[in-house]
Amino acid sequence: MNIILLGPPGVGKGTYAEILKEKLELPHISTGDILREMAKEETEEGKNIKEIMDKGNLIPDELITEILKKRLKKEDCKNGFILDGYPRTIPQAESLKKIIKMDKVIDYAAKDEIILQRLGGRLTCRSCGAIFHAKNSPPKKNGICDNCGGELYTREDQTDEAIKERLKVYRNQTEPLIEYYQKEELLIEIDANAGLDQVDKIIGESLDAIEGEE
Ligand code: AMP
Repeated sequence: MNIILLGPPGVGKGTYAEILKEKLELPHISTGDILREMAKEETEEGKNIKEIMDKGNLIPDELITEILKKRLKKEDCKNGFILDGYPRTIPQAESLKKIIKMDKVIDYAAKDEIILQRLGGRLTCRSCGAIFHAKNSPPKKNGICDNCGGELYTREDQTDEAIKERLKVYRNQTEPLIEYYQKEELLIEIDANAGLDQVDKIIGESLDAIEGEE
């Protein structure tokens, strides 16, 4: 079973993918995670990738498609996989179609206000990586990590400016995929406005949709 998860940044795709991975016993392939690893490398390519990601823009289609192709060739993908973060543009969807046939596409839908609320205000510890939220789960002392006393900061790709850019890029470049996969008769839409407060319900609906019409 080859599955694509679509949805705006911050909708909870990564969390849903991790749960579905366990339930369906399929690998979770996040192109964002692969790129974040590459961005740590002190190479020209690593630096270029980091710069693009920090601004909230997209990595060129050819590069990300090559990276994905390599990943799909690995042994763990032979019974299927869950794609999170790819495709993000129509040309990527066209490339994927040439590589392998997809079975289901789940679109987790949420409004811009909800996404901005959720993604804005995130604070990360420079020392241990713990995550806080300025409003929803603030640290006890302003700017200081509860766990290790490290300094809290806003990640470059989580500033208000970068978040707004990521949402704009999503609406312009990725949202057309919804219609694309509707036409391919692969699309299942799930209301994810409630987000992680209703994760069981959202996962239940996802599994029904995936397993229901085989
Ligand atoms: P994500 O973790 O999926 O939100 O991805 C984080 C960032 O990685 C995005 O904002 C893009 O800069 C980059 N990225 C991830 N997947 C892709 C993709 N399929 N095409 C282009 N850029 C991507």
